[in-house]
Amino acid sequence: MRKNIVAGNWKMNTTVPEGVKLAYDVNCALKNAQPKCDVIIAVPFTHLVPVKMHIDTNILGLGAENCADHTKGAFTGEVSAAMVASTGASYVILGHSERRQYYGETAATLKEKVGLALENGLKPIFCVGEVLAQREDGSYFDVIKAQLTDSLFDLSAEDFGKIILAYEPVWAIGTGKTASADQAEEIHAFIRKLVTEKYGKQVAEDTTILYGGSCKPSNAKELFAKPDVDGGLIGGAALKADDFMGIVNAF
Ligand code: PEP
Repeated sequence: MRKNIVAGNWKMNTTVPEGVKLAYDVNCALKNAQPKCDVIIAVPFTHLVPVKMHIDTNILGLGAENCADHTKGAFTGEVSAAMVASTGASYVILGHSERRQYYGETAATLKEKVGLALENGLKPIFCVGEVLAQREDGSYFDVIKAQLTDSLFDLSAEDFGKIILAYEPVWAIGTGKTASADQAEEIHAFIRKLVTEKYGKQVAEDTTILYGGSCKPSNAKELFAKPDVDGGLIGGAALKADDFMGIVNAF
């Protein structure tokens, strides 16, 4: 059975003390909430160790927002998958559209990162999604298929089973424009079909596919009610404990 998950992506927000307080508040709220889904926060590298010290990772999973595409050595400023894992984090977001767009991450780079994350025991939260022009010219199915095929579909079924997918239409990220629940479901079902063709029905049924893009407490319930939408990857609304919990409680 696949898991329902709500994951926060804090991006480049909060100082360490602010982040520790936010994580602590979410952790306290979860203790009283008995959520019907797993909950994860992905935080800046600087926050991993101090946040880990202030949360119970049995209640609130911890992840990074990126990792390097090399194992170690002369890559000034980079943080390896092994370093992330050594903080006690269990997840890493890879393939986020902001990394693809602003830092030139390609399918090949992401394939390396996914491999290194898995080697180090991290579960990748792997993002795919089309930009507005691709939505408008109808090429979005091909775009998403290529993103999955080129970075993930060489994995063994066992390794693929460790991946959490996130469909994030780029035109909906941080814009206030949410994909409608029907638009999200159309792509989620398409992704599950591709996974079925590649890895078989059981793996596809067990794969968690999150929706991301201006998800908030007011629209989460409708999105999560769709059969192939297994939760959300949340940016802006993950920065306030109450909003984030509103989305968690949508399940
Ligand atoms: C994201 O960046 O992963 C995201 C979904 O952002 P937002 O919720 O702010 O649109």
